Amino acid sequence: MTKTGLRKATASKTKLALESLLNTLQRGHSDEVLRLFLKDQAHDIFPKGHDTLNWLTNNMGKKATARFIRALARLACFNCKGGLRTCENCDGAGHFDHEMVCESCMGLASVSCNFCGGTGLASIDFIPIGLRLAVFAVRLENAEKQIAVLLKKPIKSTPAEDPTGAFGDCVDVIFNLNRQISVLENAVGVAKDMIEVPRCLSLKVSKITGEAVRAAIKGQKQLSETVAYMISVCELQAKKEVKGTKTYKLEVARKKYYSSMLNSIPCFADTYLEHASLNEAAKKLIPNKGS
Ligand SMILES: [Zn+2]
Ligand SMILES: [Zn+2]
Repeated sequence: MTKTGLRKATASKTKLALESLLNTLQRGHSDEVLRLFLKDQAHDIFPKGHDTLNWLTNNMGKKATARFIRALARLACFNCKGGLRTCENCDGAGHFDHEMVCESCMGLASVSCNFCGGTGLASIDFIPIGLRLAVFAVRLENAEKQIAVLLKKPIKSTPAEDPTGAFGDCVDVIFNLNRQISVLENAVGVAKDMIEVPRCLSLKVSKITGEAVRAAIKGQKQLSETVAYMISVCELQAKKEVKGTKTYKLEVARKKYYSSMLNSIPCFADTYLEHASLNEAAKKLIPNKGS
């Protein structure tokens, strides 16, 4: 085949691949979009370098590229639901005989999924090379928005009337906040793992780290406040119960456990609510934090 013939064949292959990608994107099939893109990237139809985003913008348009990145950003983890799985240590009870809080799940019955780091989203290995930073920047933006919503969201149930409901609400808030903080931690990890950051992206990388750290500080503060609130809910529930009953014993154990968790240094040490990489990044950015 002549050089011109080869160029034409490649161009038509690229055109077909792009059309197929756009059609799948329009149908809203995120998993299929990812599969198609990875397949064509492996066949060198789509690029893999740092210019992949620009290449897509030039060939597919700004709008479709943004849509594609958003689809990749919301791809779910293939191993869990919402970043959680049932705690095997206590079989999802959260306690042992109402006397001891299960430390693996902090009495919450579920633990963080190791596969996705508790984000509930597809881990970095599934995100096409050349688009990872863009995808994680969108995830960071989404997490910031979610945290802002969670900061405003009050606990629905009234503890005095329905302490069990209020406790459940607190658990939901903790899970939701932790999921978003995990997304932030992941974004910091992606930025940190880029060993050779090209100059054109270095500003973006430090911006991502800075934003993630700032949003996480707000999220972690709310997390602590929710646990503090949960302690008061346990106290209230214990007061309602007759001493020595199962519920009474559990509420006393919970109160003791959550109080010690809140007082640990750093906060939530050795639990899955502790996000070491974020704390480390925060120390570098804000030297006084934690010292
Ligand atoms: Zn457990
Ligand atoms: Zn997962």
